[in-house]
Amino acid sequence: MQKDDLLRLMRDPNLLSSEKQTLLSSIAAQAAAMDMPCYIVGGFVRDLLLGQPVNDLDIVVEGDAIKFGKSLVKKFGGKLTTHDKFHTAIWQLSSSFILHPSSLDLITARKETYSQPGALPAVTSSTIENDLRRRDFTINAMAVRIDGDHFGELLDPLDGQADLEAGLIRALHPRSFMDDPTRIFRAIRYEARYSFNLESSTLNLINPESLFVIQTLSGERIRHELDLIFEEENSSQMILRAGEFGLFKMIHPKLPLFNPDYSDFLEMDSTLDIPTSRATTGYMLWLMDSSEDEILSIGRRLDFTSDLTYSIWAVSQLKKSLPFLVGSKPSVWTFALEKLPPLSIYVVYLVSREDALLDFLSIWRHVKPHTTGNNLKARGLEPGPRFGEILTQLRAAWLDGDVTNKQQEQDLLNQIT
Ligand code: ATP
Repeated sequence: MQKDDLLRLMRDPNLLSSEKQTLLSSIAAQAAAMDMPCYIVGGFVRDLLLGQPVNDLDIVVEGDAIKFGKSLVKKFGGKLTTHDKFHTAIWQLSSSFILHPSSLDLITARKETYSQPGALPAVTSSTIENDLRRRDFTINAMAVRIDGDHFGELLDPLDGQADLEAGLIRALHPRSFMDDPTRIFRAIRYEARYSFNLESSTLNLINPESLFVIQTLSGERIRHELDLIFEEENSSQMILRAGEFGLFKMIHPKLPLFNPDYSDFLEMDSTLDIPTSRATTGYMLWLMDSSEDEILSIGRRLDFTSDLTYSIWAVSQLKKSLPFLVGSKPSVWTFALEKLPPLSIYVVYLVSREDALLDFLSIWRHVKPHTTGNNLKARGLEPGPRFGEILTQLRAAWLDGDVTNKQQEQDLLNQIT
């Protein structure tokens, strides 16, 4: 692509907000003042060339990124978090830049070597070209130089642009997935996100040898990749594809395939007033038909929080007990459901379409009697377990329609106390 064409894209406010353009110019000016070659890399370049709005700004400098970051903070404010070992920094922008996300990564151009498959790489400072060569796919291995007169120069040593045009995900070398099998998950994400294809020799690199290395990845790294998948719009396509490739058995022998019958529910946004998370919903749908032991063991492997494991367990338990609840009075439903996480209940609703679950979430759980503990005390009753029983009885009466106004509640209260 010609420099002018690229500049036109970089000045398009639909692709790069004017706030981001201002930030880029500020960074570019500072890099030029320090005589430090400075590049935007990765997803930014890929999405810009695809004519799609860009999100993250990942900055790579040929020089010391920490020193560069300190000078940016001095000039433009904000805060710097440094990682001395990797010569990288995160610049938390000051509020004068109204941006989302409000931080950006500053990286020293580097080379990586892997001592053994799946391990984290050893890192040494290097050139931008070597920095691009350590990346995952050609479409992510392009850079745009921004310092001074170089603003808008495209660096594409691995022909990423051609692959973008052809819609191909191509690994950079045959050991790529052995070095870092998280790239297999990444390939699956890009494939479905952009409706691209895995280039044929890259596809062949997803083989028993590289799949085997998945076993050595930490739970946290795998879960991070799965979280990213669930955050995507086409997550169902991705999670089904990951199953087809045989990734799951390598993660945990009991990790099931994702049930395609549930795939539509991944994309569903709840209109209810409950905290939702696409990833949590994804894991619930995925594991709801697993046994209790399997859920616990898979949760340990994937480093789930205890809350997440509990929420998945709650889905599986509720789904199993549903036949025993169907036809019950609202109060029975309410007292059975009340202790469970609302999202677990919603997910069981998605797969069962049992109306009572929705009634509970939208109406019943909010129903409370007018009478309070203080009212009971004022009637001369001694505080104790009996208080709870009385209030529960009043609540049940409201839920089941036995009382429908304040006077009826009073009458019932008089009757039972
Ligand atoms: P996305 O839109 O998926 O977030 P991105 O390109 O911004 O895309 P990041 O995960 O933020 O993705 O990574 C930034 C860049 O770092 C990538 O474009 C790629 O060049 C490189 N990268 C990320 N993960 C890996 C990896 N596992 N191996 C090699 N390079 C990677």
